[in-house]
Amino acid sequence: MEDWSAQGLRYLKGVGPKVAQKLEKLGLMTQRDLLFHLPLRYEDRTSVTAVGSLQPGQRFLVQAEVLHVGTSFRRQGASRRVLAAKLADHSGVFTVRLFYFSAKLQQMLEKGNWIRCFGEVRIAQGELEMVHPELQLIDIDQPPPLDQNLTPVYSTTEGLHQQSIKKIVGQVIDKLQEHDMPETLPQDWLAVHHFPDFKSAMLCLHRPRDSKDVRLIAQRNHPAQHRFVIEELTAHRLALLERRAEISVRQNPPINTTGKLIEQLTCNLPFSLTQAQQNAVQDLLQDFDSGKPMLRLLQGDVGSGKTVVAALACLPVVESGFQAALMAPTEILAEQHYQNFKQWFETLDINVVCLLGADKGKKREQKLAVIANAEAAVVVGTHALFQASVEFNALGLIIIDEQHRFGVDQRLALQKKTLNENMPHQLIMTATPIPRTMAMSIYADLDYTQIDELPPDRKPVTTSIVSEQQRQSLIERVAGSCECGGQVYWVCTLIEESEALQCEAAEVTYQALQQQLPQLSIALVHGRMKAAEKESVIQAFKRGETQILVATTVIEVGVDVPNANIMIIENPERLGLSQIHQLRGRVGRGSRESFCILLVKNNLSESVRNRMDIIRNHQDGFIIAEKDLQIRGAGEVLGTRQTGEASFKIADLLHDQNWFAEVEALAALIRKSQHQNMRQQLLRNWVGARQGYTEVG
Ligand code: ADP
Ligand code: MG
Repeated sequence: MEDWSAQGLRYLKGVGPKVAQKLEKLGLMTQRDLLFHLPLRYEDRTSVTAVGSLQPGQRFLVQAEVLHVGTSFRRQGASRRVLAAKLADHSGVFTVRLFYFSAKLQQMLEKGNWIRCFGEVRIAQGELEMVHPELQLIDIDQPPPLDQNLTPVYSTTEGLHQQSIKKIVGQVIDKLQEHDMPETLPQDWLAVHHFPDFKSAMLCLHRPRDSKDVRLIAQRNHPAQHRFVIEELTAHRLALLERRAEISVRQNPPINTTGKLIEQLTCNLPFSLTQAQQNAVQDLLQDFDSGKPMLRLLQGDVGSGKTVVAALACLPVVESGFQAALMAPTEILAEQHYQNFKQWFETLDINVVCLLGADKGKKREQKLAVIANAEAAVVVGTHALFQASVEFNALGLIIIDEQHRFGVDQRLALQKKTLNENMPHQLIMTATPIPRTMAMSIYADLDYTQIDELPPDRKPVTTSIVSEQQRQSLIERVAGSCECGGQVYWVCTLIEESEALQCEAAEVTYQALQQQLPQLSIALVHGRMKAAEKESVIQAFKRGETQILVATTVIEVGVDVPNANIMIIENPERLGLSQIHQLRGRVGRGSRESFCILLVKNNLSESVRNRMDIIRNHQDGFIIAEKDLQIRGAGEVLGTRQTGEASFKIADLLHDQNWFAEVEALAALIRKSQHQNMRQQLLRNWVGARQGYTEVG
């Protein structure tokens, strides 16, 4: 059967170039996309409600006669008139109120006319009314037919009317009714679970027959939804497993180690590894031994010591004659890793180089040369590392730090870079502590290691909420602590989109603090400064030459200055909980007692206060992340909303966790060869447009 659903949208009525553009904004390019553009909610226009039975707060369809109509000015002296019409049927009276109206509408609402209205009912001054309902003039002796099904309401975009998108999607639903589409799940599996087939499930969600369906759908509890949730998660999983399977047969750099370098570095460290760190290293060594490319996610809360594990991972690779590359999400962090690596590797005679986007001209040429001729065994950098001009001599291991900060594109570019050669081993590190089952579902293509323990000397960071009114006494307290040798981060936040404003806010705070505390050395770092400038500011802070570092959230990830013991976060309510936790992780790294102060507005809403209390009362990133997930949803927390990596059409990682086991089983079933066609159709339906899963390899 020819797949009609792959057709573009211009074959549909009402879709010209302009509308097509609008639809594309919604991610809708093919007719299949429209099918999967499921309604947000439904409206019931299948029956007429008597005026006497209207309930405030709900939407109803009524038919009533205009008894009286009048206009008045909204306020004294206002220029705009308001229209109010009293309508009645045999059972009661209500008012239709319009704040904007045309002459035509006014005509329609003439006394004695019968009107069909659909809208939300509310109570104003003790009476029932509808504000701006949909209005239709009818002949009460021969009223037009009512809708057969509930009316879907779709998400849409500016300039594309609900009516239009409804009509466009409607055409595709009609096609489905007529032509059907291949079933994507095994019949016997559907039967066991009492799930509807593809067509009925789709029809039911777009055109539910009765309010029982709608009630179940609103509760996310309809079998048609369950079917698609499981189906989407399964498709996602299949794509990941497939990618994994392709990668595992790739040639990969053979790593043989005597363990000597690892032993040496561990002995040189000023601390001993935690058990969790040792276990992580064991996992990595096993991967090197397996003969397959390593593809492992290393997850550990802020401060759990992932960096040193990354360093240890480089050693067997270098020992086997390959290069290792560490990619960090910011220049500040790349530079810091470089400093650490240089110090750790110096005595082992391993050469480290740091490549940043800011490196230009001759300096860059030189660095590129030592990377290409393998003089540099370990290369640290930002994503600048994976630009086309960077050529490695023999890349054996790629480490990605703070993975959630990178988009799919960057990860893909990295994989493409290695397509025709040996597949380097990959270690992906993240501090976003998501529940294990969820991690395994999003990263089904990765093996998983968790560092579930902090180094023993860590003291909890005492967190308090301080209001703007107490700013002055806070500044005095900060000064006092600095005089005793402490160091302070003062973080200025603003909504992330506006980096410029954020820098400005930091600038203002910086100047104010300088004025009030002339005896202290205060520095400023933000995202708009040049890399070298940022670097020298951070280095001075590290060396203890500056006492207060005013910063934007650029310091969120990774920065490590053990002597810093106070962090002030201005307007923390603008950040997600996990992000605040990451920031707070910058203090409490040394032996000093540490504090995190959330400097909030004077009047906090209750919900914000509750969120801040979560931070104050919890130190464990996993608990915080779970609460954050509940509040903000998975896409936001994982930082994948923009990148689309874990954005699902219907599944919701948080609410649908209980299906994960089912998904695993179903994916295994479908991977068996007799279901080849289904597998392909599943991938086409759910992940087709998203590159990366299907394209690699
Ligand atoms: P993260 O996991 O957040 O990347 P880092 O690797 O930056 O954490 O480590 C945080 C701090 O803890 C660093 O100063 C590091 O030197 C130190 N550290 C790492 N492992 C240990 C350990 N086993 N014992 C004591 N300190 C450690
Ligand atoms: Mg780190």
